[in-house]
Amino acid sequence: LLRVTGLQKSFGDNRVLSSIGLDLADGQVLALVGPSGSGKTTVLRCLNGLETPDGGTVAFRGGPDVDFGTKVAKKEALALRDRSAMVFQNYNLFPHMTVLENIIEGPVQVQKRPRREAVVDAERLLERVGLAEKRDDHPFNLSGGQQQRVGIVRALALRPDLLLFDEPTSALDPELVGEVLTVIKELAEEKWTMVIVTHELAFAREVADEVVFMDGGVVVEHGHPDQVLRNPREERTRRFVQRLL
Ligand code: ATP
Repeated sequence: LLRVTGLQKSFGDNRVLSSIGLDLADGQVLALVGPSGSGKTTVLRCLNGLETPDGGTVAFRGGPDVDFGTKVAKKEALALRDRSAMVFQNYNLFPHMTVLENIIEGPVQVQKRPRREAVVDAERLLERVGLAEKRDDHPFNLSGGQQQRVGIVRALALRPDLLLFDEPTSALDPELVGEVLTVIKELAEEKWTMVIVTHELAFAREVADEVVFMDGGVVVEHGHPDQVLRNPREERTRRFVQRLL
């Protein structure tokens, strides 16, 4: 579904991504792990068009190879953005909108889908995550776990090919983490294609088909979760895993 090669990104003199490569097949879950500041969030933001890479290519199945080393047309960059949807660490819900309005905003305003259809879709998705009765509430009346489930529904409502999760549980109180991880696990069982940045290594081992360990803007090691997280080849991965498990 997705192939990324040689992805580069700097902020001023700070080279955050040196050369990142990722390969993701349909229905696969990739967990992106690594120390704080290693560039994981920046990878997601480049895939979702929130940042423009300085170099490298990003290609989705059925779309063009977008080469950021050359002058990229706006249209190409926008087409990339439409393929994925992001779930943020701090939910990023619009506080002045109801749950329903938050969910239909993208489908109606950006994708120009009929409002009626977007509402039916949103209600069905809310039902799925057990939040049907919260439809007309505002985000501040919801717990963190509920807000993040709305964040997930909002991403699903865009009907993306790829879901991107940026540390989806790290802002949550420990007792609320489980309800969000359960929803993500169900999505994995339904064969959604996902990239998940997470510090929850036990969860990554359970849900991911592949784990990528990043450090200092490069992929240090990637492979099956049992290999990378239990029996790493690289010393840097070993030190990271030992600290967290
Ligand atoms: P964490 O686990 O702490 O979220 P991360 O691996 O996701 O870390 P990034 O958030 O991608 O790391 O950040 C990598 C580096 O890029 C950091 O040094 C950060 O300060 C820098 N950085 C990220 N975004 C920007 C920006 N918009 N402007 C300037 N520097 C940035």
